[in-house]
Amino acid sequence: MVIDAEGFMYKCWMDIGNRALSVGNIKSNTLGNEALLYQYMLYEPVKDEVCSQCKYLPVCLGGCPHERLQGKKGCTTLKETVQDYMEYLPEVMEQNRS
Ligand code: SF4
Repeated sequence: MVIDAEGFMYKCWMDIGNRALSVGNIKSNTLGNEALLYQYMLYEPVKDEVCSQCKYLPVCLGGCPHERLQGKKGCTTLKETVQDYMEYLPEVMEQNRS
């Protein structure tokens, strides 16, 4: 949750400044865009055809929610870097031992 200077709350920093995307106001104790709040909160990646088959699902939790709401897949960057990381890991561990 991100809160702006006027107390408007947003589920993502990408939404700040667009009051239509505010999910409430902490100063006035009022709700805002409840439908958007539920869209952010109730996504179940295990029901997504692609994510449910993806080995990164336990780690990425279905990717970036903001990207998903834009109709994109916000896959974790780990997907592109894990191979390099795993190859480099033994070297890093050896350096830390010495
Ligand atoms: S890496 Fe991409 S496809 Fe895999 S679970 Fe995450 S969002 Fe879904």
